[in-house]
Amino acid sequence: MSEFKLDFQDTQTAFADKTTSELKEKHRLFKMMGSPSLVNFGTKMTNFALSIGLPVSGLIKYTVFEQFCGGETIEECQKTIEKLGRSHIGTILDYSVEGKSEEEDFEHTKDEIILTIKRANEDPNIPFAVFKVSGIAPYGTLEKVSAGVELPEKSKLKWERIQTRVNEICEYAHSLDQPVFIDAEETWIQNAIDLMAERMMEKYNTEKAIVFTTIQLYRADGLVFLKSSHEKAKEKGYVYAVKLVRGAYMEKERARAEEMGYPSPIQPDKSATDRDYDEAVDYCLDNLDSIAFVAGTHNEKSVQLLAQKMEKKKIPHDHPHVFFSQLYGMSDNLSYVLAKNGYNVSKYVPYGPVKDAVPYLTRRAQENTSVQGMMSRELEMIDKELNRRKEA
Ligand SMILES: Cc1cc2nc3c(=O)[nH]c(=O)nc-3n(C[C@H](O)[C@H](O)[C@H](O)COP(=O)(O)OP(=O)(O)OC[C@H]3O[C@@H](n4cnc5c(N)ncnc54)[C@H](O)[C@@H]3O)c2cc1C
Repeated sequence: MSEFKLDFQDTQTAFADKTTSELKEKHRLFKMMGSPSLVNFGTKMTNFALSIGLPVSGLIKYTVFEQFCGGETIEECQKTIEKLGRSHIGTILDYSVEGKSEEEDFEHTKDEIILTIKRANEDPNIPFAVFKVSGIAPYGTLEKVSAGVELPEKSKLKWERIQTRVNEICEYAHSLDQPVFIDAEETWIQNAIDLMAERMMEKYNTEKAIVFTTIQLYRADGLVFLKSSHEKAKEKGYVYAVKLVRGAYMEKERARAEEMGYPSPIQPDKSATDRDYDEAVDYCLDNLDSIAFVAGTHNEKSVQLLAQKMEKKKIPHDHPHVFFSQLYGMSDNLSYVLAKNGYNVSKYVPYGPVKDAVPYLTRRAQENTSVQGMMSRELEMIDKELNRRKEA
């Protein structure tokens, strides 16, 4: 029997719901993002223009924002939700406001996250909700808790409030039977996030996977942490639910470690990250009775490997504990081909005011310049499809 293999070169499926002019626009943007100097210049200019109040939001909205975000509000995402849904791809509404510092902003963001959970519950096209703890918490408090230092009285109160907000979100998700992801962030705030994620899973995953934590396998200790967390969940009798990612803050992590003179928590090289990522996937597949997991990746090899292993183990494509997920605007060849073959697939669809989404958009732009091969892969796929259409 020949080896099972998904055809991720099937650009007709990948871009079935894109018009030729949409594809050309995508091509133009990705080409621009292929230039590191242009991205660096653009990022600096955008931040500068926003900081002095220049009206650049419109320009951003109809270029990068439109490519990577669903809209400024949940309502504006409706079209995208339906469009993805028609191809059997779920939407994960990701309120992408970052960098706030006031308590009232945190409360507002928490309320918005609650709205995304409510919205998800009303729509079979939205399988998950998601949030970042740093969006509802003062960064400094997360840092102090993560470092294990004695908290001053003022910080104690802030820490209490953070935990209350996280609990409110997870409790609401649980009451509606609506799964929710907690994203992973920088190592120096991650201990606090892990602590809360573990408590939330213990509280709300007694019957099924409601709260999903996230593990970054670019961390040298990621794989060990996955196994020990799962062991703990088994002992305490709750479903361990996890999103596996490689990790988005590598440059920042390395720079901080170097600047402050501690060993970098990141793997020595890309192949070490890749090895641990695929091993983590294997581990989850071997423990599907007590683990639900999401492969949050654009890495074609990892996705292919996971699909092949599922085939080998005769795990149904739509197994309720195995999910694939990509980001909106990226790697459609993976998402659409997986969906066509009956796997559980969803895409993060970030939304929010344009100027607040700039840090997210900057990460995407930098990722598309720095990630080896990513940019050229996207361009290659678009070229291939444009040529196919010309010849058809
Ligand atoms: C659905 C979804 C959810 C996500 N959620 C989170 C989240 O909660 N937290 C988060 O941090 N990120 C998150 N990400 C982003 C993710 O961590 C990656 O940055 C991104 O997906 C690129 O990695 P990749 O697996 O797609 O594949 P690839 O493009 O193959 O890998 C690139 C990644 O490999 C790692 N890497 C690259 N070079 C090296 C090197 N020299 N040494 C060691 N490692 C290296 C880095 O992590 C880099 O981002 C999410 C991504 C998706 C698709």
